[in-house]
Amino acid sequence: MTTENSFKLTYATMFNPPEELHKRFDQALAHLKANLGQDHAMIIDGKETYNQDKLENRFPADTDVLLGTFQKGTAADAQAALAAARKAFPAWSHTPWQERIALVRKAAALMDERIFEMGAVLAMEVGKTRMEALGDVAETADIFRYSCSRMEANNGFINEMGADPLVGYVSTNTSVLRPYGVWLVISPFNFPASLSGGPAATALVAGNTIVMKPASDTPWTSRIIAECFRDAGIPAGVFNYVTGPGSTLGQALIESPEVDGVTFTGSYDVGMKIFRDFGLGRWVRPTILELGGKNPVIVSRHADIETAAMGIMRSAFGLQGQKCSAASRIYAEAPIYDALAARLVELTQNLKIGDPTERAVFLGPVVNKSSYKDYQTFVAEIKAAGKVLTGGQILSEGEYARGYFCAPTVAELPFTHRLWKHEMFVPITTIGKVHSLDEAMKLANDVDYGLTSGFYGTDDEADWFFDKIEAGTNYSNRSQGATTGAWPGFQPFGDWKGSGSSGKNGGGLYYLPLYMHEQSYTRVRKA
Ligand code: NDP
Repeated sequence: MTTENSFKLTYATMFNPPEELHKRFDQALAHLKANLGQDHAMIIDGKETYNQDKLENRFPADTDVLLGTFQKGTAADAQAALAAARKAFPAWSHTPWQERIALVRKAAALMDERIFEMGAVLAMEVGKTRMEALGDVAETADIFRYSCSRMEANNGFINEMGADPLVGYVSTNTSVLRPYGVWLVISPFNFPASLSGGPAATALVAGNTIVMKPASDTPWTSRIIAECFRDAGIPAGVFNYVTGPGSTLGQALIESPEVDGVTFTGSYDVGMKIFRDFGLGRWVRPTILELGGKNPVIVSRHADIETAAMGIMRSAFGLQGQKCSAASRIYAEAPIYDALAARLVELTQNLKIGDPTERAVFLGPVVNKSSYKDYQTFVAEIKAAGKVLTGGQILSEGEYARGYFCAPTVAELPFTHRLWKHEMFVPITTIGKVHSLDEAMKLANDVDYGLTSGFYGTDDEADWFFDKIEAGTNYSNRSQGATTGAWPGFQPFGDWKGSGSSGKNGGGLYYLPLYMHEQSYTRVRKA
């Protein structure tokens, strides 16, 4: 998103936006609050589709507020959506790629137009601050555009190859990337715009048709994305939007032989189950998994303490620690350990906690009761085995009484404790003292995950860090976020090891081809 005075909104610029953004967000929020409680349909084959059973979408900062109801889709809805996508595939895949990207770019422009409305919805259903919510929408539109520009830059991925030396014949060889067919997108609650819309738009650019199933906590944002596709003129059936529980609707989609490829973003456990279940099909189908993280930050004795503490605080507690990229393990060298820990604690204690739609608030509620309970369980474990430096309790009085509020927590734990390796996904980060960078690196890499990482120290040390760290997305000396805040086209975002399957980063050069398979043609004519 770019405003009249050329401000470009990203996760790195969001800390000091122009006044205009706040004004327009406030207007959109007021309008939204006056229109809550409606029933929202699925979109299957271009038709608004309702069910008798509903999912309730509530505001996690005040669970008395019903944002709206959504359909509890069934296995029959899954089949209908897949059938619609199958029917639409021949025409969409044969639509010239230039026309496909024109429609996806139009959908991005519509999303730009609706950014404040969508940001307000997103903030309320996730419990995200206004700037993080606007960032999620702006990022999504940029992913749409980036996918289009990659298709263009590669001229539709149609390439003439070399000629084989046939005597008496002339041969021409062509390589072309073509879509797979029906693509399933299953997304998590925390980035409901970019992680639903990003893969969906990329699949569409590639020529696939899609079925999109968002998380049950956050169905509304994806509904607006589906509306942008529809209003841009993407034909009925090319995209389908279904809502309902992962364990029933989601499972039915995964078990269907009608799915030709899937992008799943979510937890390690669900992702691995999907990987196994999807593997039971008649042949191997592309499975793009973007899973959890346990992201380390290493702070050298030469680091600038203020930059490090600020970057760590932002990445540990932005979105209440519920980012796959959250900074959840801090390894600091002994000479600066006390100063870093003290400054991190101070910054954390100064955070404004409350209704995330309010301008001054940095930390909202966790998304649901299950995360709220997780927080309490982890805190009890930490208190038994280590030391809470700040935080360590739920907030349940006064303005916090009807929401899932948790105090941001910095804790020390022995390195042998299981929580150093477990993705908590709540506002808790652990910090530990190391005596060398080699020791820190050994600990940093000693987990199954490999999503993001951060480093603070000299430039030479940063080079060493980038060479040794086992993670897909890495940063050094960044105050805007130690481990968070990637942007399409700037910082390709992806996962190594247990954090993902494709080995190629979203928003990067090699992502779009994941949605296509290669075909080669050899044409032989007599000379
Ligand atoms: P979950 O794994 O709980 O859910 C993700 C999605 O899977 C939801 O839409 C869910 O539906 C669905 N689902 C659940 N069970 C099944 C099933 N059996 N078959 C098909 N679909 C199913 O993740 P969360 O929503 O809690 O998101 C948090 C997780 O996502 C964290 O682990 C985080 O690290 C990860 N993540 C990874 C990112 C990355 O890029 N690597 C980015 C963002 C998040 P329902 O909601 O109805 O249960």
